[in-house]
Amino acid sequence: MITGTTKLLGVIGHPIEHSLSPTMHNAAIAQLGVDYVYLPFPVKPEDLSQALVGFGAIGVQGFNVTIPHKQSIMRLLSDISPLAQAVGAVNTVWRGETGWHGTNTDVAGFLAPLRSLKSDWSQTEALILGIGGAARAVVAGCAELGCASVRVVGRDRAKLAHFQDSWAHSALVVHLQTHLWEALPNLLPTAGLIVNTTPIGMYPNVEQSPISLEQLLHLRPGAIAYDLIYTPSPTLFLQYAAHYGATTLDGSEMLVQQGAAALEQWLDQAIPVDVMRRSLHQHLKL
Ligand code: NAP
Repeated sequence: MITGTTKLLGVIGHPIEHSLSPTMHNAAIAQLGVDYVYLPFPVKPEDLSQALVGFGAIGVQGFNVTIPHKQSIMRLLSDISPLAQAVGAVNTVWRGETGWHGTNTDVAGFLAPLRSLKSDWSQTEALILGIGGAARAVVAGCAELGCASVRVVGRDRAKLAHFQDSWAHSALVVHLQTHLWEALPNLLPTAGLIVNTTPIGMYPNVEQSPISLEQLLHLRPGAIAYDLIYTPSPTLFLQYAAHYGATTLDGSEMLVQQGAAALEQWLDQAIPVDVMRRSLHQHLKL
């Protein structure tokens, strides 16, 4: 129940209408019985700094950050966690004594389902498709897992060089190599973890896959195929990979776990992850 004492949490983005975070977070808040509400806040890029001043004025306790603000918000924060600095993006903000503090829970979200599969990743070569915002959290995650190598595939030589350079002074130890898509046939046979961070195959383009069925013939036995996309589930890429015996993961658990990590940051108590997962799955009809 919302009363005069209810504290505000939320998510900023543009557009924000399709965000699934309010559904997940308010389900957890209801289960916990805490006096909070989580709201979607549409914030245009040109209004970002004004929005933060307004949030300070009305006592917003914390908020998530989504496209297009994950990078641009960083200059407005008084403190940024080393992980978020390494990733170059903030998705979770809270009020601290010195102003707004930010971190990145996408990395924890990405890692959660992988950690339940195995603990030793030192022999695993990671292959990441795409070099956008999500790919940065995935690279940081693979570095945290201690993968033997991290290979990243992109379609633009200049962007690939920029991506590679951006990790040169990172606090994370990343054995990173970048490749054009043409190199895929050579990279697939040794990859133990393949992560799709491109939108290829996402609704409504459900008949597309970043890797063809023929190319996946060379998949290493025991490989893990991970698609950050959660609509549809499974994507064609995951269907193809499963056809050749791969373990498959869709993006829904990452979404749940990054949200749970943010809520834990704000509320400083154990979060009912199962309630968040159930509300998301109900919403997505998974
Ligand atoms: P982004 O910053 O726009 O990056 C997308 C990347 O995919 C870019 O490197 C882009 O290449 C590449 N790409 C796009 N279309 C391509 C194509 N046809 N062929 C080859 N490469 C292509 O987007 P993002 O924020 O990283 O998000 C990417 C995906 O991850 C989305 O599907 C999003 O829904 C999903 N995601 C899921 C979660 C989760 O919690 N499960 C979290 C974050 C993101 P160029 O740079 O050359 O354009």
